[in-house]
Amino acid sequence: MEKTSCLIIGSGPAGYTAAIYASRANLKPVLYQGIQPGGQLTITTDVENYPGYPEGIQGPEMMVDFEKQAARMGADIRYGLATKVDFSSHPLKVEIDEEKWIEADSVIISTGASAKWLGIESEQRLNGFGVSACAVCDGFFFKGKEVAIVGAGDTAAEEALYLSKICSHVHMIVRRNEMRASKVMQERVLKTDNIKIYWDSEIDEVLGDKKVEGVRIVNNKTGEKQEITLSAFFVAIGHTPNSSIFKGWIDMDEAGYIKTVPGTSKTNIVGVFASGDVQDKIYRQAVTAAGSGCMAALDAERYLSENGLH
Ligand code: NDP
Repeated sequence: MEKTSCLIIGSGPAGYTAAIYASRANLKPVLYQGIQPGGQLTITTDVENYPGYPEGIQGPEMMVDFEKQAARMGADIRYGLATKVDFSSHPLKVEIDEEKWIEADSVIISTGASAKWLGIESEQRLNGFGVSACAVCDGFFFKGKEVAIVGAGDTAAEEALYLSKICSHVHMIVRRNEMRASKVMQERVLKTDNIKIYWDSEIDEVLGDKKVEGVRIVNNKTGEKQEITLSAFFVAIGHTPNSSIFKGWIDMDEAGYIKTVPGTSKTNIVGVFASGDVQDKIYRQAVTAAGSGCMAALDAERYLSENGLH
């Protein structure tokens, strides 16, 4: 069976940054990219909040740069999906593409999270053309414009408030007659003049041919439909961390986010580290994911040298 000292699972900013640091520490990391090489940034357009790109950059292009940098440092980057793990003993074991196993002295989990979508055709068709699952990433492009957001949790509340400072009006579509968000966030939303809430309402259709021009909503109590003219439509109905293959081995919260020892990337299994969105439900930014990938590589390097494995 093939063996490596450092196996990195995932190819978003966290995984590639871990690969850059692990390579420079001479750990000769092997990185498996997963089904979506480059991760969530490959489905966004302009990125303007990643430091070092004064003119901004396209998400997919940025991830190609990350990959090139990791490869240039010597990371062994492979297309393949981790499908199972066996963390019962050391070396740790990870199954790739349901066909082969690889052994590793340390594993860095950077499998990310996926935004939940409503699942309607118009939402998918206009994704990246005014439909977005990240207000902090894309809100700025709709400065002074009218936008809508669907969702009623803390993320939706936080993003609605964020958008209210940039956009002229924020239409918030809530499917029940109350919000799930914490009281303090709800109060802030309700107190904000340019946020209008539509209770008991669901999205019937995102309107627009080439870009978002509006939404049609339907009141689920009365059946009444209404069209709102907009420039952008934000979806904030939660994320799913990509952690299912680690269930039973790695400690997680009830939503599946991996628990790390605060201030570190350490998980409950010695030699297994986690970074990026799979362990972060609060910040979820490329730059914070990259920072935590760096932490994971440094933690792995320290673990390997303390145990005479490197
Ligand atoms: P949540 O799961 O808490 O909320 C999802 C929201 O989306 C709910 O209001 C839900 O409605 C709504 N929703 C789900 N599916 C649909 C749908 N198909 N159509 C319309 N609405 C839908 O996710 P969040 O991302 O908001 O938060 C995740 C976790 O992260 C929470 O524990 C939260 O507290 C935490 N968090 C904390 C922050 C902070 O402390 N600053 C910031 C952001 C998140 P319904 O209520 O009807 O189920």
